[in-house]
Amino acid sequence: MAIYKHFKPSYYASSIQEIPYEQLKKQGIHTLFFDLDNTIMSYDETLISNKNIQFLNELKSAFSIIIVSNSGFKRVSKASNHAKIPYIHSAKKPLKRGYKRALNKAACSKDHVAFIGDQLMTDIFGANKMNILSVLVKPVKQRSDHFFTRTNRKIERFVLKKMLKKYPTLINDALKAYSKDIHGL
Ligand SMILES: [Mg+2]
Repeated sequence: MAIYKHFKPSYYASSIQEIPYEQLKKQGIHTLFFDLDNTIMSYDETLISNKNIQFLNELKSAFSIIIVSNSGFKRVSKASNHAKIPYIHSAKKPLKRGYKRALNKAACSKDHVAFIGDQLMTDIFGANKMNILSVLVKPVKQRSDHFFTRTNRKIERFVLKKMLKKYPTLINDALKAYSKDIHGL
């Protein structure tokens, strides 16, 4: 059961715009780590949309922002530089290394950080293992998921089914909404 608790996000939102930022601020969060693919832009896109850049720019007045992505240098640097946001590429989430690199870059304690991403198996699992507050978002465009992500979604579904059946106490509102939204569970 111990491992399953790491799959539980603190919040779930239908997009980065819908995250309860005021609430995060009240909880002492001043730095946001964002996953890139399917969190801020779809796999089909190579640049972050103007709408999202504008939104992230507004967020910058209240939070420090870093993009933490498992994608490679070329893709991550292009999208991040265009949006003028610092980044960590090839983060290897859910391993701890990428989160630690991001914490070093932000020069802040993990108590003040929230991690925002679209995948339970990488973003959320890794953040929770690091004791970083985790926020799950609905994928920007699920059909654009790459092979590894599609595989992760299958594992995700398996894990969620098991949790719903065996460990219902670990299912909070965030996870309940996500299971329903993405997996129809
Ligand atoms: Mg992602």
